[in-house]
Amino acid sequence: MPWRIRVRKKFYWAHYLTNYYGKPEPIHGHTWQVEVCVLARELDEGGIGVDFLKLKEDLENLLPDHTLLNEHFNFSPSAENLAKWIYEKLKGKYEVERVSVWETEDFCADYFE
Ligand SMILES: [Zn+2]
Repeated sequence: MPWRIRVRKKFYWAHYLTNYYGKPEPIHGHTWQVEVCVLARELDEGGIGVDFLKLKEDLENLLPDHTLLNEHFNFSPSAENLAKWIYEKLKGKYEVERVSVWETEDFCADYFE
């Protein structure tokens, strides 16, 4: 049986959707929360499946904090697109089960395969 390891991180990102009901949105910011959920099939001698700190560091290194997301992508940086992009970036290194991106406390998109 695997372990499910989850790490969360808040980011202060600005964005605008480029085709929101057919037009660009104004630039605005959110306190985003990203949660990465990975599987560990075995534990090391210290009882660790996936090092929380290493996973968090890998997540933090994907994108700078306090940035305008649109400057980093050629797609509209919705929560849905971000979740998929983060999943793709981390899946070579971890057995990623799901990436969740909260744009606000109430609005979240999950990506999984
Ligand atoms: Zn927004």
